[in-house]
Amino acid sequence: MTTQRTVLVTGGNRGIGYAIAREFLAAGHRVAVTARSGEGPEGSLTVRADVTDAASLDAAFTEVEAALGPVEVVVANAGMTRDTLLLRMTEEDFTSVIDTNLSGAFRVVKRASKNMLKARFGRIILVSSVVGLYGSAGQVNYAASKSGLVGLARSVTRELGGRGITANVVAPGFIETDMTAALPEQQQADYKKSIPAGRFATADEVAKVITWLAGDDAGYISGAIIPVDGGLGMGH
Ligand code: NDP
Repeated sequence: MTTQRTVLVTGGNRGIGYAIAREFLAAGHRVAVTARSGEGPEGSLTVRADVTDAASLDAAFTEVEAALGPVEVVVANAGMTRDTLLLRMTEEDFTSVIDTNLSGAFRVVKRASKNMLKARFGRIILVSSVVGLYGSAGQVNYAASKSGLVGLARSVTRELGGRGITANVVAPGFIETDMTAALPEQQQADYKKSIPAGRFATADEVAKVITWLAGDDAGYISGAIIPVDGGLGMGH
C-alpha cells in the first residue's frame, strides 16, 4: 500500500489524463484535474485552467490546495497537436504547440515545485511522446515540444533532486484516444504494422505506469524516460 497523496493531473477531462485521474482515484489518492471544459472522473475535483495562462494555473493550484491540501504529485498531461509538413507549418502552428506542450509543462512544474520544496517531497511526471525522440514527419512542432520535456525533467532533477523531488518523463506510443482516432484509417493501419506489439495501447496502460511512478516504490527513479510504446521507440 503506497502513501496516499494529493495529485493534480492537467487535461484530466478526457483521454489519457482522464484515465490517469481514474487510476489514482482507484488507488485511494486525493485527485484533482484541470480542465478547460468537461469534468474529471467521478470522485475527482475539477478545476478550470488553461496551461497557456500562468494566472489561471496559479488560481487552480490555490483552489486544489484549499480543498485537498498541497499538491504532492503533479502530472503535466495536457497537450495538443497541430500537424503539417515543415514547409507549410506557420510560426503560429509551431509556437502554439510549444506554448501548450512545453511552456505549459514549465508553468505547471514551476507552480507545483513551490510546495514540493517546502514539503521536501514531490513527484513530477511529464507526459511526452515516443515521437519526441523518434521524430515524426509532419510533427516538427509536436516532436520538438515533447523532446523539450526531457531537458526540463532532467534539469529539474538536478536542481531539486536533493529535496525529495523526482521528475520523470513518460513517453507513450500510440494510445487509443481522440488524438489517434483523428488519424486516417490507412495511417492507423500503417502505424500498427511498425509497432512491435502490433497494436495501439489503452489509456489505462499508460495510467498504470504513471501511478506506479508516483508511488513509494519509485522514489529512486528520476530524470528517466519511461516508454509505454509497445517497442516502437526502442533504442532511444
Ligand atoms: P486528447 O486530445 O484526448 O486530450 C488532450 C487534453 O489536453 C484535453 O484534456 C485537453 O483539454 C487538454 N488541453 C489541451 N490544450 C490545453 C490547454 N491549453 N490548457 C489546458 N488543457 C489543455 O489527448 P490525449 O489524451 O491523447 O493526450 C494526452 C497527452 O498524451 C498529451 O500530452 C499527448 O501529447 C500525449 N500523448 C498522446 C498519445 C496518443 O496516442 N494519444 C501518444 C503520446 C503522447 P480540452 O478537452 O479542454 O481540449
